[in-house]
Amino acid sequence: MKNILFAASEGTPFIKTGGLADVIGSLPQALNNQKDTEVRVILPLYENIDHSFKEKMTKITSFEVPVGWRLQEAGLYKSDYDGVTYYFIENDFYFGRQGIYGYFDDGERFVYYSRAVIEAMPYLDFDIDILHAHDWQAGLTVAFSNIMQPKPGMKTVFTIHNIQYQGWMTPQAFNDLMNIGAEHYPGLEWHDMINSMKAAIFHADKITTVSPSYAEEIKQPYYGEGLDPLLNERSPDLMGVINGINTDDYNPSTDPHIAAQYTTSRVKKKENKVFLQRELCLEENPDIPMYVAISRLVEQKGFHLLERVLEEFLQENVQVVVLGTGDYAFEQSFSYFSTRYPEKMATILKFSEPLARQLYAASDFFIMPSKFEPCGLSQLIALQYKSIPIVRETGGLKDTVEPYNEITGEGNGFSFANYNAHELLYTMRYSLLIYSRPELFKPLIANVNRSKFSWKDSAKLYSGLYDELV
Ligand code: ADP
Repeated sequence: MKNILFAASEGTPFIKTGGLADVIGSLPQALNNQKDTEVRVILPLYENIDHSFKEKMTKITSFEVPVGWRLQEAGLYKSDYDGVTYYFIENDFYFGRQGIYGYFDDGERFVYYSRAVIEAMPYLDFDIDILHAHDWQAGLTVAFSNIMQPKPGMKTVFTIHNIQYQGWMTPQAFNDLMNIGAEHYPGLEWHDMINSMKAAIFHADKITTVSPSYAEEIKQPYYGEGLDPLLNERSPDLMGVINGINTDDYNPSTDPHIAAQYTTSRVKKKENKVFLQRELCLEENPDIPMYVAISRLVEQKGFHLLERVLEEFLQENVQVVVLGTGDYAFEQSFSYFSTRYPEKMATILKFSEPLARQLYAASDFFIMPSKFEPCGLSQLIALQYKSIPIVRETGGLKDTVEPYNEITGEGNGFSFANYNAHELLYTMRYSLLIYSRPELFKPLIANVNRSKFSWKDSAKLYSGLYDELV
C-alpha cells in the first residue's frame, strides 16, 4: 500500500480559483481507484469555504506552529468527500479573510501553511510514504520535509502547475519566518530572494509538471521564468504528465446547471445557446456561431491578441462572450466591446461556476490563445461540452488539441503557432468558414465527440512514479 499526502492551496469542491483546484479535486479519486494507493489531501481552511462543508468537518486536534519568533495556533480538521479524506489547517489570522490570494503577506501565509502541514503529520493517522506538493504555495512543505525529516524515509514529489507564480519573498523572510538552520539558506534562495518554487524544485525527489510539452518548454529561458537553469540540472527527475478532468462532474448529459442536457446532439446544444442569448440579451438565433472565453483575464491567456482583433472579428456574423475576472485593462476593454456591440458581444466580469458551464454548453467555439499554458483544463472541459477549442500551440494546448485538417479529416480543434494577433484572427475566420460548410464541419464534430480526457492514463503514470520512489 502506498500512502500519499497531497498538499495544495485549493481544491474543488471546497475552494477554487483555477485549474489547480480541478486537479486537486479529481486526481486523488482517480489514484484511489488504482490498486494499493491511497491519496489524502491537506488544504488551508479558508473563510470562503462554504458553510455546508464546514459543518461536516470534525476537529482532530490543535497544535502550535513556529513562525519565526512567534507560535501560531493551528486547528486540524478532517472530512471525507467522494471517497477521499481531506484535512484542513485552520488559522483565522492567516485564512480568515475574503478570497484566497492577493494579500501582502501571502508569502508568510503559505510559509505558515507549509510548516503546519509538517507539524500536522503525527496527528493524521496516516502513515505517509510520499508527500506530493503542488505549486509554490505548498512548495516549502517539500523543503521542510527534506530538512526536518518528520518521517524518516518519506519521499517527496513536487508538481509545477504554473511556473510563473513562484512565491518570492525578501531574504529577511528566512530569519523572520522559517526556523531552520542558516546552512539551508542556499536551498531556498534564488537571485538573492527566497523563492518557494525554487526551494521545492531543489529539494524534491521527483518533479512533475502538467504536460509533456510544458516539461520541455520550462527548460528554456522563454518559458522557464528564470528557473530554467535549475530545471535543466534536475532534468533527469522531471516528467510531464497531462492533466485529466472529472468526466462525471463535467458531463453535459447530467449537468444540472445547463438549460438542456445532451450528449452529442447539436440540436440540444443549440437550445443552450438560445437560452444564453436570451439571458445575455444577445440576438436570439441558434445558427449564429458563438465564441466564448472563460478565464482569468491575464496576459498569460493571450487576451492581448483577442483584444487586438476583436473589432475586426465582430464585423462577421458571430457572437463573442467573455467570462472572467482579472486585469483591470482587460476587464475594461472587453466591456467596451460589449457596449459597442450589445447584440453580438457580452462580457461578464465574475467568477461563476454555473455560468461557466452554461457557456461551455452554449458555445460552438472556445477561444484560448495562451502565451504559455502548462496544461489548460478549459479546453478539455470545452471538448467535453462539444465546444471546439481554438488555441495557440503551446504547452498542454499543443498536447491536447489537434488542429483540424480538412484533407485528412483529422483533428478536434483549431490552432496557430505564433503569438500574433492576426494568426488568431485568421484561425478564428477559418473556423467560421468550416462552420459554414457542413461537409467539413461534420467530420470535425465527430472528432470532437470522440475526444476523451479522463484521468485514467495519467493516474497510471503518477502511480508508476510513486512505485519508483517507494
Ligand atoms: P488556470 O488554472 O491557468 O486558470 P485552466 O484552464 O487550467 O487555467 O483552468 C481554469 C479553470 O477555472 C476551469 O475550470 C475554468 O472553467 C475555470 N474558470 C476560469 N475562469 C472562470 C470564471 N470566471 N468563472 C467560472 N469558472 C472559471
